[in-house]
Amino acid sequence: MKWQCTVCKYIHTGEEPPKNCPVCGADQKKFVPYTGEQGAAPKKSEKPARSDKTKPSRDTGQKGWPGMVLKHHLHPMSVHVPNGVIPVCFVFIALATVLDLYNFYRAAFYNYLAVLAAMPVVLHSGYIEWKLRYGGALTARFIAKFFCGGVVTAGLAAAVIWHIVDPAAASAESPHRWILVLGNAVILVAAGIAGHIGGKFVFRD
Ligand SMILES: [Zn+2]
Repeated sequence: MKWQCTVCKYIHTGEEPPKNCPVCGADQKKFVPYTGEQGAAPKKSEKPARSDKTKPSRDTGQKGWPGMVLKHHLHPMSVHVPNGVIPVCFVFIALATVLDLYNFYRAAFYNYLAVLAAMPVVLHSGYIEWKLRYGGALTARFIAKFFCGGVVTAGLAAAVIWHIVDPAAASAESPHRWILVLGNAVILVAAGIAGHIGGKFVFRD
């Protein structure tokens, strides 16, 4: 017996659907019996099916900007900015604090500015993907992703403002320097969790 998650199209094999979808976290009730091409191997002469019914459709029939966002994968592309740069910022701030190197704190500040500038694209494209590809389903995984996105954005804004207010916050004389490192660790962890959940949707296991 095969079951399909109506939110993310994940296929489960078993007597009953899983309690929660392992990909998107949807409830058991969101599963329906899967009646697709069960075990039908494509003939050699056949071209691979254009629509894979076990994955959310690439082509949701959306026109204009939302269609472009989905077709060209703007969300997974744009999340490379926070996921790539935030770990660098954390290392820089840790170095600035431990070794009392002011320039590393300044470098982290400029990098955070760049990430903050990319966040509207990340959040907007993520919202479009959720709304159109996953029908705006409010599963635990999506809620966790929204929460992490909010923590990252608010954390970045706080980190940028902090540097403007106190450019010496990472120096050995600053009483707040470990709070600074800790705050940046929170941003790093939140970005990591959001990326990890995103990976589940992309790689589907
Ligand atoms: Zn699912």
